Amino acid sequence: MIKYQTTRGLKEGFSSKEAIIQGLGKDGGLFVPDKIPSLDIDLNDMKNFSYSEIAYEVMKVFFEDFTEEELKYCINNAYDSKFKGEDVVTLKGFDNVKFVELYHGETSAFKDVALSILPYLLTTSLKSKGEKKKVCILTATSGDTGKAALQGFADVEGTEICVFYPIDGVSDVQKKQMTTQLGENTHVAGIKGNFDDAQTGVKKIFADKSFSEYLFENDVILSSANSINIGRLVPQIVYYVYSYLKLNTDEAINIVVPTGNFGNILAAYYAMKLGVKVNKLICASNENNVLTDFLRSGEYSLDRDFFVTNSPSMDILISSNLERLIYHLSLDDGEYIKNNMKELADNGKYTVNDDIKKKLELFYGNFCNSKDVVNTIESVYNTKGYLMDTHTAVAYNVYSKYVEETGDDRSTLIASTASSYKFADSVSLALGIEKQYNAFDYIVKLNDKTNIDIPEGLKGLDSKKSIHNDIIDKEDMKDFIKKSLNIS
Ligand SMILES: *Cc1c(COP(=O)(O)O)cnc(C)c1O
Repeated sequence: MIKYQTTRGLKEGFSSKEAIIQGLGKDGGLFVPDKIPSLDIDLNDMKNFSYSEIAYEVMKVFFEDFTEEELKYCINNAYDSKFKGEDVVTLKGFDNVKFVELYHGETSAFKDVALSILPYLLTTSLKSKGEKKKVCILTATSGDTGKAALQGFADVEGTEICVFYPIDGVSDVQKKQMTTQLGENTHVAGIKGNFDDAQTGVKKIFADKSFSEYLFENDVILSSANSINIGRLVPQIVYYVYSYLKLNTDEAINIVVPTGNFGNILAAYYAMKLGVKVNKLICASNENNVLTDFLRSGEYSLDRDFFVTNSPSMDILISSNLERLIYHLSLDDGEYIKNNMKELADNGKYTVNDDIKKKLELFYGNFCNSKDVVNTIESVYNTKGYLMDTHTAVAYNVYSKYVEETGDDRSTLIASTASSYKFADSVSLALGIEKQYNAFDYIVKLNDKTNIDIPEGLKGLDSKKSIHNDIIDKEDMKDFIKKSLNIS
């Protein structure tokens, strides 16, 4: 049976249920399977499978300690009715390119695909372990995870959810989506700082033994809804397998992913390990291009400025899931990862060895700036009639650079990660819509111009009442959690 260990060398052998409940390893490492599994069925025999059937085949090999009944219960509840369109994801495209639209869930970002199922995976795990304590989900968000996690966990029995977002790092629509969230167990705070401050704060709280003991005494355990949780990452593998099968090709393909925390592109890497034939994994960044530099030089360095861009969900300098990739490429050398992560924490950088650098050639990395994003949205809409949000535009722009450099015109999947309406201000300006004084008016204007349906969750958002109005210093996150849990 597959066991989970951490990227930093903790080899106790956790079951997937234990890994999902804990979220992050006690040593600060991320849970990884002790070997990347293979499917029980030939990929070619899955060509006519529905999304849910593929989900079952993929998840059962990673989550072996779930019974068939448990896993199907989770999958059916997550995917039966919450997504608009013919299936959970929709493929649209032109020429050799297919956009994998991952954003037809309740909060209009790709995070819904995983965060619709995580609450079921988690509560199923808790139940079968006989765990009576309450689970408090801690989430740092660059905008989209927060809302998708709130929506997924709202009023889920036995859970509380605390979301921390950077006050100046999310769009008006994202902020409003989070602050208007209903549900007795939902808690949201704006952090004075950027996403990395929020994420580092959350990771510190996980590593704080005395705090977790204190919570334990108060019948609370902590878990995570960020992509550091393996229960979030594995469901993301599914759509790459699904989309590859839809292409109905035997050739190797390219997969382009607009990248922040490296979760989505890592899921594509796992899909490749399951049999999806891949030529290049194309890692697209915005001006926060730490990954572009890393993929080129082998050095990960935080010695750089942080930019607020028009693709805010990718405004990240510390890409947590990269740690998982390097771990696999190092052939599971936990000591090596631990030392590198210590270097990163102490000196702000680390460099991988030549062997790993060589293996990183599977990836192509590049980036573009906010102006390029606007131009890309405009030109693709005007020449191809396809509307992209700002993050997807980063991906398309970087893909164009790749094609220019290589002439490679093979079949390519581009992860389309959010509805344009979520970033309606930037998208509207790209399409020449005049400046509006209220961010929400752009939604209406963009609809007038494109006739694309406004997602239900974004309709009338402006007139909803904000109920979560706390703004806190990053040092005060623990106090916010205590207050949310009603313990002193
Ligand atoms: C979260 C997010 C990303 C980045 O995904 P990672 O898994 O963090 O790399 C890209 N685009 C959108 C719209 C997102 O919400």
